[in-house]
Amino acid sequence: MYKEDFINDDEIFSLLEKGKNANRSEIRKIIAKSLDKKRLEPIETAKLLQVEDENLLEEIFSAARKLKDEIYGNRIVFFAPLYIGNKCINNCLYCGFRRDNKGIVRKTLTPEELEEQVKILESNGHKRLILVYGEHPCYDANYIAETMRIVYNTKNGNGEIRRVNINAAPLDVEDYKILKEAGIGTFQIFQETYHHETYRKLHPAGDRKGDYSWRLYGLDRAMKGGIDDVGIGALFGLFEWKYEIMGLLLHAIHLEKTFGVGPHTISCPRIEPALDTEFYDQSKYKVSDDDFKKLVAIIRLSVPYTGLILTARETPEIRSETIPLGVSQIDAGSKIGIGGYTKDDYIPDKEQFHLGDNRSLDSVINEMCEFGYITSFCTGCYRSGRTGERFMSMAKPGIIQNYCIPNAILTFKEYLLDYATDETRKSGEKVIEKELEMVEKNDPERRKLIESKLKLIEEGQRDIYL
Ligand code: SAM
Ligand code: SF4
Repeated sequence: MYKEDFINDDEIFSLLEKGKNANRSEIRKIIAKSLDKKRLEPIETAKLLQVEDENLLEEIFSAARKLKDEIYGNRIVFFAPLYIGNKCINNCLYCGFRRDNKGIVRKTLTPEELEEQVKILESNGHKRLILVYGEHPCYDANYIAETMRIVYNTKNGNGEIRRVNINAAPLDVEDYKILKEAGIGTFQIFQETYHHETYRKLHPAGDRKGDYSWRLYGLDRAMKGGIDDVGIGALFGLFEWKYEIMGLLLHAIHLEKTFGVGPHTISCPRIEPALDTEFYDQSKYKVSDDDFKKLVAIIRLSVPYTGLILTARETPEIRSETIPLGVSQIDAGSKIGIGGYTKDDYIPDKEQFHLGDNRSLDSVINEMCEFGYITSFCTGCYRSGRTGERFMSMAKPGIIQNYCIPNAILTFKEYLLDYATDETRKSGEKVIEKELEMVEKNDPERRKLIESKLKLIEEGQRDIYL
């Protein structure tokens, strides 16, 4: 459909080559630009990607930590994935859901089963979900919108889902309008690999997913359809990781130039073993743990204001080491088998791949408290219309801190009262007190305002946000 696109393979390789010659002072200038909260140019990111010197790398890591602190504070936003159906017409070589995989049991949740899954997630304390679908005519826009409505309408005591994000196959502009109407948060599409030739090899021609451009411009169509928040991502392990970082940056710049605002989030999933799928063992591009930390830090420096998602594909150890480098959102208590929340049993024959972090939401939150992070289930921005360009224009001067931290405190308080174990409640209250002290330092009136809202929550009110 599109003869040319904004990903030029030769240009990326040439930028990466040029990036090799940067000296120490150039690298420091680039780091300083990031710390000034400016988005990097491709050649600048290419130079960071080629840094090998241990001391300079440490400077990159510490700048990423500093940026995270300054822009996102101690806040980590929590969500959970909810797999709706695993039927798929495509044959992506690396995915357990691919159509030729006879080992996988095909299943789509019925409306009743969907409600049951949502109630369980709510009873654990979740407020934000990402619904995930294979690509299949059964999962068209009307179907997706219907599942979103069911999720929003399913309540369980104080439990409710306040933001539904979607990870599904790319759609038409008209289809996206249907999802907008149903109250979508973010629409996420991972390009998988930005490298054209690798993309062709891994996504057989003739398949819907075989069309690189249809996918690459999928989020342009989403924005044309009125969806303000879009999420990009690459599946690390399909091609060279440095190349993929360049692809992600060029994609962000393309959206920024075309729509005045870049992506809301970037995801950096690493390939995982999948049932009856040989790809993982054969991949020569698997990303080591050290390189993974590097790539997270470099994404943070390249696009300071874009949310960064780290999924439960990663082990607890890697998550705790990587989060400080710039991650703003994580999932926890996740099950990716279809219907997987019903039982604690492992359901490999309905799963897309295997997860690395199988801890409960409460235990991950507890660990975050130990590390000094405040958990947030906030959905305030999106429900107050602070999305897309408006969100970015507020995020950039740091005004968002006036909303994000208070809303984190308020939603965390709800969690502590309604769902936390005694242990997490104790450590959570300490974290809230620390955050309140920090708010007070900058703005004593703000602390009083938050405390008055906290009192309302203690008295039983819910869903209070600024
Ligand atoms: N079917 C839709 C599509 O492909 O866009 C959306 C959902 S797909 C289930 C979600 C994502 O899972 C894919 O975009 C891909 O990046 C990721 N994925 C597929 N196989 C994986 C594997 N073996 N390990 C880790 N992530 C994988
Ligand atoms: Fe289907 Fe998506 Fe898996 Fe590809 S990645 S086989 S499109 S579910």
